[in-house]
Amino acid sequence: MTICSFQPPRRTLMGPGPSDVSDRVLQAMARPTVGHLDPSFISMMDETKQLLQYVFQTKNELTFAVSAPGSAGMECCFANLIEPGNTVIVCQNGVFGGRMKENVERCGGIAVMVQDDWGKAVDPSKLEDALKANPDACLVAFVHAETSTGAQSDAKTLVDLAHQHGCLTIVDSVTSLAGTPLKVDEWGIDAIYSGSQKCLSASPGLSPVSFNQHAADKIKRRTTKVQSWFLDLNLVMGYWGGEGKRAYHHTAPVNCLYGLHESLVIVQEEGLQNSWDRHQRNHLALRDGLEKMGINFIVAEKDRLPQLNAVTIPEGIDDAAVRSRLLNEYDLEIGAGLGSLAGKVWRIGLMGHASSQKNVDFCLNSLRAVL
Ligand SMILES: *Cc1c(COP(=O)(O)O)cnc(C)c1O
Repeated sequence: MTICSFQPPRRTLMGPGPSDVSDRVLQAMARPTVGHLDPSFISMMDETKQLLQYVFQTKNELTFAVSAPGSAGMECCFANLIEPGNTVIVCQNGVFGGRMKENVERCGGIAVMVQDDWGKAVDPSKLEDALKANPDACLVAFVHAETSTGAQSDAKTLVDLAHQHGCLTIVDSVTSLAGTPLKVDEWGIDAIYSGSQKCLSASPGLSPVSFNQHAADKIKRRTTKVQSWFLDLNLVMGYWGGEGKRAYHHTAPVNCLYGLHESLVIVQEEGLQNSWDRHQRNHLALRDGLEKMGINFIVAEKDRLPQLNAVTIPEGIDDAAVRSRLLNEYDLEIGAGLGSLAGKVWRIGLMGHASSQKNVDFCLNSLRAVL
């Protein structure tokens, strides 16, 4: 049997990620591969760093893309900042907070969990109680935009509380970056990670991260080696940092980085504030259409993420059947519920390039036809 070239169908991606990748980004990825130490590639990496500083709203020197998906950015933050025996407070209000706990424990840390209901924002007063009860804690971790539920937490307030109690912060911004206001320096976030495939609309496989001086100092003061060789920032920075003198660490995913660079150029052209506004505008249009159909949101209005709309599946409707009809008849992907919300909700993404009035109309019309 001869296996032929793979021809993927052309879908509209309105799930929890990946989001639609524009032709412009796809074309950038099809440009000739150069060596990863080629001078032209190195200047593209320098531009990528500047563009990432812009989308994160930071001046942090230690800002770059980990060569692997968002989960690796998560692991990079935890592996570098935790030393065995460290106490870490993890706020959980969905699936991804649970993964943070796993990371803390695998790094030899002690996780203190602060639990909130799924679909609610993290409650700052619960974090404050945990900080008072655990004076030895040195880190606080939370998810800014919980993709499993569509809830957004007040990152600035949580970071302020952590700092008042002498803790550094790790923030998951995989779904928030470029979709909803996020200001790393103004809010004082110490370590942050994101993903290329959500509101940046690049292909999956890269994880933008940024660390401030306090985080860098904690990493420098370590008395134990970072348990991951690949993610050890001291080694990675020899490649991404160090003006002009790059040392080989690993072979960067060259064409994938062309795509990220192009997607960041697109955000810069639009302007970050305009991108945030567009996400909000399309969210409101989708909300109005869904509510007219009697479909309701699971998150209270003030905590809703514009880029991830989690709605209750109407009574008597077969979840899987609807999603497979949308996929097969309309080439439209929407997301299923995760964890305790499986079978109860749909997650409709309006992320990055996929956040458009055209997609809102298409999704509403397709859903109406199928229901
Ligand atoms: C998607 C996502 C991740 C994981 O990113 P991958 O690229 O799938 O590894 C982590 N956290 C949140 C909040 C996410 O939405």
